[in-house]
Order: sequence, then C-alpha cells, then structure tokens
Amino acid sequence: MLTTHYELKPNVKEFLAGKIELFINGKFVPSVSGKTFETLNPATEEVLALVSEAQEEDIDLAVKAARKAFESGPWPDLSAAERARIIYKFADLIEQHKEELAQLEALDNGKPYAVALADDIPATVEQFRYYAGWATKILGQTVPISKDYLNFTRHEPVGVVGQIIPWNYPLTMASWKMGAALAAGCTIVLKPAEQTPLSILYAAKLIQEAGFPEGVVNIVPGFGQTAGAAIVNHPDVDKVAFTGSTATGKYIMRQAAETIKNITLELGGKSPNIILEDADLTEAIPGAFNGIMYNHGQNCSAGSRVFVHRKHYDQVVDELAKMAAQVKLGPCMDPETEMGPLVSQKQLERVLMYIEKGVAEGARVAAGGKKAFDQGYFVQPTVFADVMDDMVVAKEEIFGPVVVVLPFDTVEEVIERANNTQYGLAAGVWTKDIKTAHKVANKLKAGTVWINDYNLEDPAAAFGGYKQSGIGREMGTYALDNYTEVKSVWVNIK
Ligand code: ADP
Repeated sequence: MLTTHYELKPNVKEFLAGKIELFINGKFVPSVSGKTFETLNPATEEVLALVSEAQEEDIDLAVKAARKAFESGPWPDLSAAERARIIYKFADLIEQHKEELAQLEALDNGKPYAVALADDIPATVEQFRYYAGWATKILGQTVPISKDYLNFTRHEPVGVVGQIIPWNYPLTMASWKMGAALAAGCTIVLKPAEQTPLSILYAAKLIQEAGFPEGVVNIVPGFGQTAGAAIVNHPDVDKVAFTGSTATGKYIMRQAAETIKNITLELGGKSPNIILEDADLTEAIPGAFNGIMYNHGQNCSAGSRVFVHRKHYDQVVDELAKMAAQVKLGPCMDPETEMGPLVSQKQLERVLMYIEKGVAEGARVAAGGKKAFDQGYFVQPTVFADVMDDMVVAKEEIFGPVVVVLPFDTVEEVIERANNTQYGLAAGVWTKDIKTAHKVANKLKAGTVWINDYNLEDPAAAFGGYKQSGIGREMGTYALDNYTEVKSVWVNIK
C-alpha cells in the first residue's frame, strides 16, 4: 500500500493502474519486444507501475518518426509563431495538470509532493514558456563581405536530437532539454531515466493535446546501456544532449565520436560554498544547509564542500548539525515530510558507502551518518567535520545529503582549494563586501557562481559546467546554440 496522506488524484490512480507505453509518432505503443520494467516507490520499495521498455528496435522506430516529422512536415512548415503557440499550449496544459504531475514526480522520485508542486512543476512550465517566446526570435546575421556579394546566416534546427535525462528532476530536466530544441524547430527522441519515467509519460498525453504534429516528440523509457546507447549510436540522430554522471558522460562522448555527433553534456559536481569571515551567518548557514540538502543532495550543483573561515568554523558545524538533526524524513505524500528517500537502492548503497569511507578516513560525523527507517531508501542528512581536502568524501561527488565542512584562513587559500577539483559546475560565496564577492566570483572556475545565495535558477540564466562538469550551456539564449546549425549563404549580386 502507498502511504498517502495527501489524496491521490483519480487521474493518477488510473494512470498507475493502466498500461504505460512508449510514445512514438504521436501514439502510445507497446515496445516491440513486449518487455516492461518496474518503477518503484522509493519510500516503500513497492512497485508503482509497469512501464514498456524501449530497446534498440524501438529507438529505431522513434528516430524514424522524428526524422519524418523533421523532414516532411507539418512541423518544418509551421511558422515560428505557430510553433510557439503549441509550446505555450503545452505549458498551459502542464500547469492545468500540475497536481497530477507533482504526485507522479513525488511518488516516482521520492521528493515531497509539496516540493514537486511548488518547485518542479512551475519550473517546468516556466521553461517551456520562456523558450516558446524564443521560437520567433532566433535571428541570423547579415554579414558585410563586398559590394558584389550578399552573405547572410540562417540558424537552422540541427535535426533529430536525442535527449537523455536523469532521475533527480525528471520533468524539469525534460523541459530544459525539450524547450530549446522545440523552439529551434528540432524533433526529439527523449529517454527518461529508468528510475523515473512516469511524469514525462503522463505529460505525453498533453503533448498530443497541445497539438504537436506526430513524431515531433517521442518518449522512449528504458535503460541506459540499451535504450540510451541506441540513441547515442544511431546514425540518424544529429545531436545528443545528456545530463547525468561524469562517468556516463565520458562514455557517451566516446561513443558519439563514432558518428561525430554534436553533443552537450551536463555532468557532476563537487561544488564549493564559501563562507568568508565577514559573511552574514544568519543567511550563510541556512544558505549552506539548503545548498547541499535541497532535493536530498541529489543535485548536480549541490554545495557539497562548505568552506568556512576558521573563526566561524565551530559555530557553522554546530548549527549545520542541529539543522540536519531536525529534518523530518518521510514519504512524499505526508504533508509533514521535509526530506524523502533517495531515489533507489543503488543510490542508498552508494551514499552509505561514502559515509563509511568518510568515517574510515577519520572525518568526524557531526550529524546523521546512518540509514533511516527499515523500509525505503532513507538516509539521515549527514554533516562531516574535521575533513581534509584529500579525503575521498571531499573529492568525489556523493549525490546525497552529505556535506563536508572545511576550515580556511585566507581568501587566496580558499579560492585555490575551491578550484582544486576535476569539477566546475557551481560555487557559492557569502560575504558583505561587494568587492571581495566579485573578486572571488571571477576567480572561481565554475559555470555558475551564486553570491549570498545558492541554487537559484531561471530559464533565462545559463547553466553548465567548466572542466569535467560538462560541455555547453543549457537555458538562456545559450541553449539555442545547441539546437541550431549556422548556414552561411552567399548571393552573387554583381
Ligand atoms: P545513474 O548512475 O545515477 O543512473 P547515469 O548518468 O548513469 O546516472 O544516468 C543518467 C541517464 O543516462 C539515465 O537516463 C540513464 O539511463 C542514461 N544512461 C546510463 N548509461 C548510459 C549509456 N551507456 N548510454 C546512454 N545513456 C546512458
């Protein structure tokens, strides 16, 4: 039985009990093999639903549908304004079904329903609205060459794009990828993570209702090494956009080289969150706490290394530990729940392994450190103090509610230590001095720097990584570049 305190919507119950199939060429279809896979409720470890499993032959059908939709209309014949209207309508429909989508998101991922409703679904809606606006504003250039020639550029859609997304923000991650691609006029084969296929498959009904021509968006749930690999290896996929672990990103990059695919990667992080000597601690401490604990630490930009000026070190460790001890863990549909379970048994084992490693290396557990409850993939929010930079827990991405707190003495020293990582996704700095704030922000090698805040996001603000945190930027105008090819056209006017 599901633990429900909030009432499940009738549409959600019906969806979970029904056949959940692939969405190819505008229709719901079983997989060619007839195979299905289970998706679990991570709070109860019970099966939530059975989902059709896409494999190579299904990916091939989806790519063919996307190719046909891209080449022979009506999608390529629509005006940009008509394309925009369909994307706006899809956003409106998501908003109208926000409760159903938030419930599915919470049940499948484990995050509290209230959080999915307040954060994930509105962020998804805004993403689509933002890019709907861009559809009519993708401009080329007129280039001064000579009086005898006219040269101009067309920013054309890149073609059929494969989008492979993770399980931490299932619907929002889909919107990050789909919004820009649709605005640019591409067609899509999207693979949700095997742990969390439900919300986007529910949204597929809304894709139909919004009026996207068949084949423009295809949703193919399945596993990485089968469905995901088939997308990356397919010769007729023009571009792959991936969000996930750095290890998988490296593998995908190697595979994509076979067919010279345009790729963008949004990968892992070990982001520093720096509390300088003059920081306002009443803001910085809760900011550092939320910076790591939001979404149970399952966040690529999580501020997992908190650097604290030595003067405040004991106080910050103490207060972070108190906050961690007070977090109310529970199932997603309980209104009291502040933090749900991790997404899967695999993630639970991984996070517990890292906690054990931290203890073995000599770090001090100031709070948490254990699995919580007998059932479900719950782990206590964990604060490690007395951590050294070269400990595994200070170097590797844990992707769970585990923070390491490190003391420092000078600004120069903390910048060097913060940058001493293979990653470069995000960073935070807390200070009252505007000059220091900007100096530090300029020196941090990270794709996003938050000053006196953390984890802010907006569809208009670019997001992506330096170093092994990725290639390319999502959101803002930058993401449009990922989904367009530039064609230079010469005209003889002699
Ligand atoms: P995790 O290990 O937490 O599941 P991954 O980065 O491996 O994280 O997964 C993110 C997404 O990448 C998921 O949709 C997953 O199915 C997919 N994926 C995993 N391995 C591959 C692969 N070899 N090729 C393509 N996609 C993959």
